[in-house]
Amino acid sequence: MSKALVAANWKMHKTLRETEEYLRRLLELVGDEPPVELAVCPSFTALALAARLLSGSPIALGAQNGHPKKEGAFTGEVSMYQLADLGVRYVICGHSERRHLFGESDAFVAEKVRAAWIHGLTPILCVGETLEERQGGRAWEVVERQLSSALGDGLLGPLVIAYEPVWAIGTGVPAHPHDAQDMARRIRAWLSERFGGKGAEVRIQYGGSVKPENAREFLGLPEIQGALVGGASLDPESFWRIALAATCGRPSS
Ligand code: PEP
Repeated sequence: MSKALVAANWKMHKTLRETEEYLRRLLELVGDEPPVELAVCPSFTALALAARLLSGSPIALGAQNGHPKKEGAFTGEVSMYQLADLGVRYVICGHSERRHLFGESDAFVAEKVRAAWIHGLTPILCVGETLEERQGGRAWEVVERQLSSALGDGLLGPLVIAYEPVWAIGTGVPAHPHDAQDMARRIRAWLSERFGGKGAEVRIQYGGSVKPENAREFLGLPEIQGALVGGASLDPESFWRIALAATCGRPSS
């Protein structure tokens, strides 16, 4: 298994000036050989600048979304092909804000995952249940449906899975680490059953109100190999403190 991956999802935040200040500071903090893999997913407007600033650095560039079609009449969209052209390495697919605010279906998320692979990107596939689904005892049923739809055709390219319970995202109320571990264990078993050794290599992140103060509780769990961080990633110091929590008690590669 490779190093843990801690990824920053900036959502709809930061101007170009703020992007530059942030990345210059993060590069100082991270140094040449960080013990954990980092990725930053800025807004589309800042991707080209971030690509330039991060070029040759150990911090990977990620995108928050990508359209599966290579090119065409899709006003307002940016394709996986265009992201790859910019030097993007990771792309978030199926974030709950896109599933729930913009009505993205499981089938559309599956198309994105396929397209990401075609263009040499690594999808960060987000899965997770709503509070109602958890309270109704359906959390695993929902996550399994999302996994089966996105990965059900028997192919597996480079992949990261982010388990992000919807009710924990941006609320300040994270999942209980025991529940995050339980879900990650089920996801791992599902992957291993379908994809054997390749499935065992997929990194599983936890996401949902991760902060420097609670990061160790998640990043120290045996089945969790990283975090997808929204709000607390907007400050470089805070993001770096979270990333360092991924190194406690783990081998560095
Ligand atoms: C996210 O956007 O994926 C996320 C986990 O957000 P937050 O850390 O703010 O809960």
